[in-house]
Amino acid sequence: MTGAAPEGGISRVALDVPLSRLFDYRVPPGTAAPVAGARVRVPFGRQHLIGVVIEHATDSSVAEERLKPLTALLDSVPVLSGEVLDLVRWASDYYHHPIGEVIASALPKALRAGATLTALEELWRPTGTGRTALETGMLARLPAQRRVLELLLRHDCLHEDDLSAQVPHWRTAAKALLRQGWVQHESVAAAPAAPTPEWVAAAAAPVATPEQAAAVAHIGAALGGYATFVLHGLTGSGKTEVYLRIIEQVLERGQRALVLVPEIGLTPQLVRRFAQRLNAPLAVLHSGLTDTERLDAWRAAASGAARIIVGTRSAVFAPVPQLGVIIVDEEHDASLKQHEGGFHYSARDLALVRAQRAQLPVILGSATPSLETLQNVVAGRYQRLSGPRRAGPAAAPRLGLVDLRAHAVSAGLSTPVVQAIERHLAAEGQVLVFLNRRGYAPTLLCTACGWVAPCKECDARLTVHQRSQRLRCHHCGADAPLPQNCPQCGFEVRPVGQGTERVEERLLELFPHAPIVRVDRDVVRGRGDMDAAMHSIDSGAARILVGTQMITKGHDFQNMTLVVVLNADQGLFSTDFRAAERLAQTIVQVAGRAGRGSRAGEVLIQTAYPEHPLLQTLMSEGYDGFARAALAERAAAAWPPFSRLAVVRASALTAEAALEFLTEARRLAAAPRAVKLLGPVPAAMARRAGRYHAQLLLESADRAALHRLLGGWLPRVAELPVARRVRWALDVDPIDLF
Ligand SMILES: [Zn+2]
Ligand SMILES: [Zn+2]
Repeated sequence: MTGAAPEGGISRVALDVPLSRLFDYRVPPGTAAPVAGARVRVPFGRQHLIGVVIEHATDSSVAEERLKPLTALLDSVPVLSGEVLDLVRWASDYYHHPIGEVIASALPKALRAGATLTALEELWRPTGTGRTALETGMLARLPAQRRVLELLLRHDCLHEDDLSAQVPHWRTAAKALLRQGWVQHESVAAAPAAPTPEWVAAAAAPVATPEQAAAVAHIGAALGGYATFVLHGLTGSGKTEVYLRIIEQVLERGQRALVLVPEIGLTPQLVRRFAQRLNAPLAVLHSGLTDTERLDAWRAAASGAARIIVGTRSAVFAPVPQLGVIIVDEEHDASLKQHEGGFHYSARDLALVRAQRAQLPVILGSATPSLETLQNVVAGRYQRLSGPRRAGPAAAPRLGLVDLRAHAVSAGLSTPVVQAIERHLAAEGQVLVFLNRRGYAPTLLCTACGWVAPCKECDARLTVHQRSQRLRCHHCGADAPLPQNCPQCGFEVRPVGQGTERVEERLLELFPHAPIVRVDRDVVRGRGDMDAAMHSIDSGAARILVGTQMITKGHDFQNMTLVVVLNADQGLFSTDFRAAERLAQTIVQVAGRAGRGSRAGEVLIQTAYPEHPLLQTLMSEGYDGFARAALAERAAAAWPPFSRLAVVRASALTAEAALEFLTEARRLAAAPRAVKLLGPVPAAMARRAGRYHAQLLLESADRAALHRLLGGWLPRVAELPVARRVRWALDVDPIDLF
């Protein structure tokens, strides 16, 4: 793609349409052919679309007279750099997904809509006739226009921002002047700017522990080539310290760093720490940005103005010139896998591909690495660095199981737990209570006839929300008033079980003098809410934190001395083969919130199954012991990482339609012996939001065989007449089988 661009020829263009092919367009004569990665505007049916040129060709299989010309070339510099375009093509192949849709999930919306890659400055200048008009008094009765023109004549040229600062409603006036030819307007490329957070105040580096220093030396020596490191540290800021020191080295080499974090891990605390220590322009990319903010961050990355890019999942596609390292923090986290929409991808796996192709090191950091990652360590593909020990002087917390069968329980809180909370509050500690269920109670029950409030659209019960007096479905969002009496027999109904709202209520009764902050999706809706909640804990204003999964990661608490896991049993007996791994990760992660400052912590786990092997192994041998046992089980059952999976999920208005589609799809598959097809079966919760869900699982120990099958099979599945009656999608390397 270097050298003089040829004139004419064919551009092969990716469009955001659900078709697995490129579209050929003629480059108009006399026009230089657009480079790969550049955006073009093309006719498509009756509309015009913006697409990305994937390659240049000299001929097309489309008949000459049917070949349409490109309408416009939008970029002289490609919007997708060679490295990113390469990654996009790889992802489209591996995930068997149309490349146009892959690009659509990589590019910010504003760029897909045609915004320029470089930020533009809007400049206004006066013209000679404008001067005459002013001097001859033609604007005497138009004060706003006169004011604008006077300003422009005085300064010769003004930026829009300066005009709006000085003249209210300047734009209307300027447009009128423009129509008269008295002013000119132009858009010029702005100097690249990177947002630098305003709180930057250099922070001194703490002294590295020997483990941190060793990890930094090890990774530092590998800069400049591909290698994968697993930083299996305890939860804590120790891991971040290693990231910071590696990024410092990368910056010194004149390179840039890309840091991927789970959606929820991207806290202001983390960004602040990076900005303070690294004192280099930093761009942040996450789903909470407005379209304009996202465009600005992408531009800062693409221009090279930002030296560090911190982002969630889709930031793996961010353009970063002279990339020197990729860091994937909390690599086990499910939010690094895109599992909504049509294009399912793992940002962690794509980070590894990107690093390998660009020859640079990757750091996978986690206190609880995924079993896939640990197996890659065993196989010698990844290097495990003995993680930095817990930062600070605190010892590892004491863990204890509380047998729910042996103690009185009130609103989910057992007597030993209540006593422990009392003890820690009296000793000036803070307490974290974790329960992965929001709302007041998961069930509304009639004690007379046994009726429970069901969701009309899902195979699920409605959750009681006491404070708002509503019944809500946590799967489809259905929402109804909370009835006082049974709709079936008229008897009184009552909430059964507990969610965070009820636990908070009970804690308020038990400890009226200990301020409580609750964190779940009902009370925390934006980043501001989360920041405020964390601040009330950090400042000591709140003494007890009650929350769901949202509180298990991303934030370091200095004075949290007790962590309580209220119900460890969800997940012990799930049919999903990954449930045990997720449960162990959650317990270890939430336990890691205790005793991070100078004080030792205590962790109590309530369970009705204290003898369960998972809990026993976790207590006696920690996460490593659990992982060894779990990998042995996976190997015996030939589940990943000892095999590869792909799942076709379908949903329809009837169960029959979903199953019929998958049955016909299965019939089309000429599966070799190496690939097993399992199903179709209804999903564990078959009816969700009024649609019936079913799946067909493909499993093989031979990845290449599985992908060969998918490549030949999927286009034929898409052409099945029944495919039109269902919504379906392929998920390669699924992390949920439900
Ligand atoms: Zn009843
Ligand atoms: Zn529902």
